[in-house]
Amino acid sequence: MTDNAFSPTPLTLLGTGAMGTALARAWLAAGHPVTVWNRTPARAEPLAAEGATVAASAAAAVAANRLVIACLLDDDSLGEALEGADLTGRDLVNLTTGTPAQGRARATWAEERGARFLDGGIMAVPPMIGSADSGAYVFYSGSSELFEEHRETLAVPAGTTYVGTNPGFAALHDVALLSAMTGMFAGVFHAFALVRREDIAPKEFAALLQDWLTAMAHAVHTTADQLESEDYSKDVVSSLEMQAAGNATLLRTAEEQGVSAELLMPYMKLMDRAVTQARGEEGTTGMIDLLLKDR
Ligand code: NDP
Repeated sequence: MTDNAFSPTPLTLLGTGAMGTALARAWLAAGHPVTVWNRTPARAEPLAAEGATVAASAAAAVAANRLVIACLLDDDSLGEALEGADLTGRDLVNLTTGTPAQGRARATWAEERGARFLDGGIMAVPPMIGSADSGAYVFYSGSSELFEEHRETLAVPAGTTYVGTNPGFAALHDVALLSAMTGMFAGVFHAFALVRREDIAPKEFAALLQDWLTAMAHAVHTTADQLESEDYSKDVVSSLEMQAAGNATLLRTAEEQGVSAELLMPYMKLMDRAVTQARGEEGTTGMIDLLLKDR
């Protein structure tokens, strides 16, 4: 046997919903023995036909393997599923979406029960899982020893991006990117609404939108540069004052097209607040600090 020889890692997967099933299939296809458990047993049956072992209870599934991966609905369902399971000596990888505080609390909870803990945030939808060129990846944070030991196995269904020992950081990165996506889609939906009742083909318009958003996305690096240097006037291309003045045209066009500006207003109000704080000469980066609340 050479150093590069494949060594199958037996693992347990809790939760065979849409995402759990895709993950299980990727590990099975790569030759790893997989034990699955699902609250509703019928949802695990198709995987049995594909070679998975179906455990009768979550506790039995946890007992079967050292590496235990959970992909359940939310943090509460993880707590419920693992109630009564013996986690001593287990490596628990939690791919259930949660908040940073839930990730940190779950790490303490798992460590108190004798397990190492790694939290994960999946940046993909199920059809992207197990396909090497889909761009799917998972943010991981928590035990670096666990991550290093199981890195190759974890890399089977999707790429891996380890973001630190703080167990809340995977969720924080995941939710930060999802939040950016939410804002992007708010703008996209407003744009589609503007052209909706006109003789403009949605597919042709979509291509224009994609090119424009891709070109604009590069601005995140200027923002990062300004945040790191704490110089918000550095390399400003369009001043905040100019952009805030331009909002009047956006709002008037929405009015003319009979479109509600409700998705735009919160962002524009924040811009106005920044301008009144004499930040008009800067770009928009100062708006980020206006969002920070005391805690
Ligand atoms: P599904 O709704 O398809 O599956 C949810 C799973 O959670 C099922 O296995 C369900 O069991 C189980 N579950 C729910 N409540 C409980 C409970 N109280 N106790 C035990 N098990 C419970 O969701 P997905 O598989 O799509 O999502 C799973 C996780 O993956 C979520 O955290 C989601 O945010 C995340 N994710 C999903 C993505 C997607 O596009 N689908 C993308 C990125 C992340 P049962 O079958 O019995 O209901």
